[in-house]
Order: sequence, then C-alpha cells, then structure tokens
Amino acid sequence: MGFWKHILDCLLPPRCIACGTVLSGEQGLCPDCFNKIDFIGAPYCPRCGRPYENATQGLCGQCLKEKHPLFRMSRSAYRYTDASKPLILSFKFYDKTDNAPVLAQMMHRAGADIFKAGVDVIVPIPLHFSRLLKRRYNQSALLARCLGKLSGVKVNYTSVLRHRHTRPQVEFSGHARVKNVKDAFRVKHPERIKGKRILLIDDVMTTGSTLRECALVLKKAGAVSIDTLTVARVLD
Ligand SMILES: [Zn+2]
Ligand SMILES: [Zn+2]
Repeated sequence: MGFWKHILDCLLPPRCIACGTVLSGEQGLCPDCFNKIDFIGAPYCPRCGRPYENATQGLCGQCLKEKHPLFRMSRSAYRYTDASKPLILSFKFYDKTDNAPVLAQMMHRAGADIFKAGVDVIVPIPLHFSRLLKRRYNQSALLARCLGKLSGVKVNYTSVLRHRHTRPQVEFSGHARVKNVKDAFRVKHPERIKGKRILLIDDVMTTGSTLRECALVLKKAGAVSIDTLTVARVLD
C-alpha cells in the first residue's frame, strides 16, 4: 500500500484543498489560502469554545448562565466565513472526500482540550438513509473515521440513527431550525452509549440545534458527557 501510495503521490502531486495550487510538501492548504482562514485559537471560553476579543479566562457570560449545560466542551477548527465556506461545500456536495484527512487534522488540533479530558466513543452526526443514498457518503462519518485514526478513539457509526427525514437546516433560521430536527434521532444501541463520554462530530456548527437534538437522545441513553467538534462554526 505504501509503495503504491508513493507512486500515486509522484504522479499526482499534493494540491491545496482550497484553490488547487500544487504544493511542495504534504497535502493541505497553500500559504495564501491558509492566511485567509480564520482559525479559532486561544483565548476562548473553556466550555463553549467561543473566542474572546480580549484575553480573558473563565467561562463566557452565556455559559455562566447555564446551570446544566448539555455539552461538556465545544470546539471548532475555524470560523465559517466567505473564505472558508468553499472548503466545506466542496467536501460536502462535490465529492472532495480526499479533503477529509486535512480537515480532520485541523479538528484534532482544535479539539486538544477534549481529547485531553478523555473521550470513549466518537459519534458522527448521522444522515437519513435517503440523503445518504443521494449523496453516497456521510461527510461527518468521514471526518470521524480520520479523527478516530488520529486520536486512537473508537468510532461508532451505527448506534445513533436519523430516523426522520428533515429538510436541510440552511433553509431555516432561529427556532425553525430547532423544530426541523426535533425528534430526528434515535439511539439504536443504548448499551453502547451508556456510561460513555461521547464526542459528537459534524462539519459545521451554526446554531447548534442539530448537535443539541442528537445530544439529547445520547444523554437519555445514559451518556456521561457529550463534547462537540466541528470543522467550522458560524460566529457573529
Ligand atoms: Zn490555496
Ligand atoms: Zn462559553
């Protein structure tokens, strides 16, 4: 495998996953595209991961108000902006599945606090089977597989089902998003979730309603804690 990969790498040089420029080193982003991406770095809220304007420590105002937070920690690699949007869209809709390892590496770095705190199982947000048929792959599952390899944490693809078909979340905003995904998920194998620290994986966190809805059924099934890790996040 290594030999053939080497031959293939020589024939197909690594390219920037955003603009397609041939790169001299490993596959990833060219310096130009790298500089355009707004990576989320410290300082940020230790719980929700929202970046701080000024160097502060401790929980953000929103997290201080929440007595029983659903998520232990939430992290994302970068902000969802006009510059970073094409990276996600090409990965999600245009078969750029070979971008998964590069995106997962960014997520692995962004999720360092989560892996340090300890995770038992990685769970990708599932697609409804009708959408999986149409798209042929689940982008969150691809990211989860790469993250499993990078972190050594087991990935569980089958315990959570999306049993209700939902309209794409981009068609809605605010509370309509919450309603759209309501009761969309079901835990098929609660015994594989009970007592476990779960890391939920998705490509983009917008309002968080999809991740929250999925987390609720995992909590009901006995998950000890739930963290979320996404490639991008919408922040205002
Ligand atoms: Zn580029
Ligand atoms: Zn916070």
